[in-house]
Amino acid sequence: MSSIKENVKALLAELPPGVELEAAAKGQPPEKILEAVEAGIKIIGENYVQEAMIAQAVVGRSVRWHFIGHLQKNKVKKAIEIFDLIETVDSLDLALEIEKRAAATSKIMPILIEVNSGREPQKFGVWPEKVIDLATEITKLPHLKLLGLMTMGPLTGDPEEARPYFRETRLLFEELKRINLPNCELRYLSMGMSNSYKIALEEGANLIRIGTRIFGPRGKK
Ligand SMILES: *Cc1c(COP(=O)(O)O)cnc(C)c1O
Repeated sequence: MSSIKENVKALLAELPPGVELEAAAKGQPPEKILEAVEAGIKIIGENYVQEAMIAQAVVGRSVRWHFIGHLQKNKVKKAIEIFDLIETVDSLDLALEIEKRAAATSKIMPILIEVNSGREPQKFGVWPEKVIDLATEITKLPHLKLLGLMTMGPLTGDPEEARPYFRETRLLFEELKRINLPNCELRYLSMGMSNSYKIALEEGANLIRIGTRIFGPRGKK
């Protein structure tokens, strides 16, 4: 099996210009995250606030930390403190909570809207037809800064099947740019994981979130 360092270096060498690599670190001990950082990772994605706090104590804040899990309202205060970007805002309710907490500390919180591009009822994310409305409301909130969109897409064995979902999300991203909302900077289209990032890149992703292909299969040490 190849090492974390080799995996990171191979991925970085493969990325087209303008694309950023995020290490999805859920379940990984801080020492492994540190290894990835030493190999050139600049963005860590975390699904849990608690896990991120533990990892940050070891890895430090010289890299950027993104939240990519489902954010509960009672974790918003802490999340604002420790993350540089929250990728998973999927309701006005959550956006308003972030606004309230960010305002209290005079911080402007960068966020992405999570799109449920597969329209899967059991999954988080806002359905594609609701994205423009949510973005319009979010850009009215002075302590949030909308930086783009994120999607998971349905998990399938064949990554090719993810293509239409990535494509629809990219078209939404372009539509958002076109309508020229105030108070946003549409920089990130976050899509693609270990099995699907190549397709995501073809469909315009500029931030890919990779776990397994960096750290190896989860649950195995
Ligand atoms: C775990 C996770 C990833 C990475 O998944 P892999 O298949 O291990 O690359 C990407 N995005 C999110 C939101 C995740 O939870």
